[in-house]
Amino acid sequence: MDRTLFLHPTMSEVIVLFDGFSVMNGKDEMKANCSCTLIKGDHNIIVDTMTAWDSEKIIDALQKQNIRPDQINYVVSTHGHSDHIGNNNLFLNAKHIVGYSVSFKENYYAHAFDKGEEYIINSSVKLIPTPGHTLSDVTVLAVSKDADLVAITGDLFEKHEDIENPSIWLEAGSDDSVEQIKNRYKVAQIADWIIPGHGQKFKVTEEVRELLRRQAGDIFLVQK
Ligand SMILES: [Zn+2]
Repeated sequence: MDRTLFLHPTMSEVIVLFDGFSVMNGKDEMKANCSCTLIKGDHNIIVDTMTAWDSEKIIDALQKQNIRPDQINYVVSTHGHSDHIGNNNLFLNAKHIVGYSVSFKENYYAHAFDKGEEYIINSSVKLIPTPGHTLSDVTVLAVSKDADLVAITGDLFEKHEDIENPSIWLEAGSDDSVEQIKNRYKVAQIADWIIPGHGQKFKVTEEVRELLRRQAGDIFLVQK
């Protein structure tokens, strides 16, 4: 892990409650749900709350971790699509961060994600803006118990396979593919593990970094 990212990191437990998935059902229909992740540490944080039909699943999964919904301090939806916000209303004691929007009840708090500013939750968890899939996606960075840096990226990465086959994330929808390529590269440089929006957690190997660097390379060359 890059030690400059967190000045005095404590550690959190990063638990994938549900692995996301996405499969095409014919040409115009897709079956999908997002990865749902719990971070336990100085705060209890839930990242991406699946579809509106998944509330019982989420409550049960949290119960296995001895956590009630009212004990969640932060809900983070990496972006505002329906499969990532479906159960935010289970968590009424939590601050809600949906993409670049930060709120509690009727109070909205300005934060300059659009200027690249990170949002620090505690000494082991922060959010960084990673636009691309939508123009206001965020990625959660957490220092895990083994001191690895885990990036919970939402749909910045659809699944591990989209590194070798970029058509997967492009076809999943990208509001700014150039920004998305840049942010995929950026996150891979700092993370040891990625929890993608619709696939299993995977290790960021040197091969992964090199592939993403090459995909980003053309863009950086053009901009110089
Ligand atoms: Zn999604």
